[in-house]
Amino acid sequence: MTPNLDIVPIKEWIKGYDKPLIIAGPCSAESEKQVLATAREIEKINKVKVFRAGIWKPRTRPGNFEGVGEIGLNWIKKVKEETSMLTTVEVANAKHVELCLKYGIDILWLGARTTVNPFAVQEIADALRGVDIPVMVKNSINPDFQLWLGAMERLNKVGIKKLAAIHRGYTSYEESPFRNLPLWRFPIELKTLYPNLPIINDPSHIAGNRSLIPLVSQKAMDLDMNGLMIETHIQPSIALSDAKQQVTPNLLNDILKELIVRQPNSQSKAFKSKLDHFRNEIDSLDEIIFQKISSRMGVVRKIGKYKKENNVTILQVNRWDSIVNKRLEMAEAMGLSDRFLNKILPLIHQESIRIQNEIMNS
Ligand code: PEP
Ligand code: MN
Repeated sequence: MTPNLDIVPIKEWIKGYDKPLIIAGPCSAESEKQVLATAREIEKINKVKVFRAGIWKPRTRPGNFEGVGEIGLNWIKKVKEETSMLTTVEVANAKHVELCLKYGIDILWLGARTTVNPFAVQEIADALRGVDIPVMVKNSINPDFQLWLGAMERLNKVGIKKLAAIHRGYTSYEESPFRNLPLWRFPIELKTLYPNLPIINDPSHIAGNRSLIPLVSQKAMDLDMNGLMIETHIQPSIALSDAKQQVTPNLLNDILKELIVRQPNSQSKAFKSKLDHFRNEIDSLDEIIFQKISSRMGVVRKIGKYKKENNVTILQVNRWDSIVNKRLEMAEAMGLSDRFLNKILPLIHQESIRIQNEIMNS
């Protein structure tokens, strides 16, 4: 079952919100100089509304740079005082929440390694009971949609209504150009279920290297995501964490300038009427597809009866192999991908077997 989420529109908590909301700043706050120099350059870009920095860094192995801790909150507070940007910091436990509130951090976020752990999420939610602060929730490191939803539900239950989701991709053993697989179907499903929930894409953690950031960012815009969180460092080559994926403020500016932001709808009458025309076409084609599938299942029923009368098994592996090969050839000639066919054919096969089984047992 999908939970109900009570969401305050993003326009009410980000002054002057305009798609895309850009969040930028270093993976980690490293020194006062680095934080302030980065923030000053980022502010010049004008499009960045929120400054991010990690204060406590969840690292896979101990001994790597684990963040500067509380002292860094002073530096972020200075960013808030000196610039017009809001500030956001990752929290992973109740103590982090308490400190961020003490230093006046504007927005909190839960990292991917926190969302994966309902105990930690609940601890944070309990620390936030009765507090009016926006919280952004990254997807869990593993591709489990329910954990992402569950974390937002826990926060919503204690009264956090200024919620956003951050899509940062998923750990995978697959060979891939990405550090974390984007698996776009997850943010798409989230957007479909909760059209009011803002979704911020994090191309930095998906890409894992700066060269892929423009591509991922553009895809996020084409899918109507609400914003981007891009790790930005005054000198990425010497960054203490995620050096390969951080961009300079200059590069961030270039990436944002190149971005094509499309609207979900065009106001033009001609556009609407042409789109309506295409949609009608799709509606009638869908009707034909379903009619044909239904006819196909009708024939399957006849075959099932015939096999029953003649005492023949339902499954005949050779026949199925030859169907798959023929269909793949035909589909390729029609411009359909193998990948698609390899998904849809087994579904049709399973349904045919289910129908024949029903007949055998009737
Ligand atoms: C981060 O934003 O620096 C971070 C640790 O991200 P994630 O939780 O997505 O790994
Ligand atoms: Mn990072």
